[in-house]
Amino acid sequence: MTSTPTSTPSTPGDYHDPAAHGRLEVSGLAKSFGPQQVLRGVTLSVDPGSTTAIVGPSGSGKTTLLRLIAGFERAEAGSVTLSGRTLAGGDAWVPAHHRGVGYVAQDGALFPHLTVGQNIAFGIDTSRLPQGRKATRARVAELLEMVSLAPALAARRPHEISGGQQQRVALARALAREPELMLLDESFSALDAGLRVATRRTVAKVLGDAGITTVLVTHDQAEALSFADQVAVMRDGLLAQVDSPLEVYTRPVDRATAEFLGDAV
Ligand code: ADP
Repeated sequence: MTSTPTSTPSTPGDYHDPAAHGRLEVSGLAKSFGPQQVLRGVTLSVDPGSTTAIVGPSGSGKTTLLRLIAGFERAEAGSVTLSGRTLAGGDAWVPAHHRGVGYVAQDGALFPHLTVGQNIAFGIDTSRLPQGRKATRARVAELLEMVSLAPALAARRPHEISGGQQQRVALARALAREPELMLLDESFSALDAGLRVATRRTVAKVLGDAGITTVLVTHDQAEALSFADQVAVMRDGLLAQVDSPLEVYTRPVDRATAEFLGDAV
C-alpha cells in the first residue's frame, strides 16, 4: 500500500493520506432496489475519531447507507472516501474486507456453531500475525480484554452468554482488523435498558480510546444526543439535517425530528 501523502494512486483505493486518517467523506451516494430509490444523493463528512449518529424513520435508508459504506452493496452513483482513499466511486471499488471498516449489526450476527474465541479469530487477519495458533489465541485474549470480557468466555458458544456479552464479542470481532471506521447498526437496541446503557458506555470507551471514527444508526434519543458529536437526520433517502446534537435539538429541521428528540428530555 502506498503511504506517502504526495504519491499518486497506482490503482483505485490505493492512496492513503496520513493527515486524513479516519476521515470519512460520503458524496452524492444513490441506490435503488428495483423501482424504489432508497438513497437519493447522500453527502456526509465525518471528522477523524468523531462519532456521528444517523436518526430517522424506519425505511428512510439508514441501514442501506451503512451497508454501502461497508461495501456490502454497490451504489449507482456517488463516492465513499476513507482516510483519503477512495473505497467506491467511478471505477474504484474496494471489497468489504479490505476497507478498514468494522460493522456491528443489531443482533451481532455471531456464528452460532463457533465458540466466542473462534468468532473473534474469524475477524483476525492471520497473515499479519507472526505465527499460527498461539499468536491468534493471544490476539483473541487481547481483544476480549479490550471489550471487558473474561478470557474464559472464549470457550463458550454465543447462546451460552448474555445479549450484552454477544454484542461485545461482535465488537471484538469487528475490532480484530484494526478498523479506521466502525459502523454500528442499532447495535444495542435489542438489549434491555440497563444493559444498553452499560454496553454503550463500554463500546464508546473502547472506540474513543482507540480513536476510531464511528457512525451509528439509532432509534435511541439519548444515544443520539449524548454519544454523538454530530447528528444526521435521514428523510426519504436524503440527509435533511447534519448538525451538532445541540443544534438538532434546539433547531430541528422538521416536526418529526423535534418530536423524536423532544422525548429525550
Ligand atoms: P432504515 O434502516 O432507515 O429502516 P433501510 O435502509 O433498511 O431503512 O431500507 C430502506 C428501504 O429500502 C426500505 O423500503 C427497504 O424495504 C428497502 N430495502 C432495503 N434493502 C433492500 C433489499 N436488499 N432489497 C429490496 N429492498 C430493500
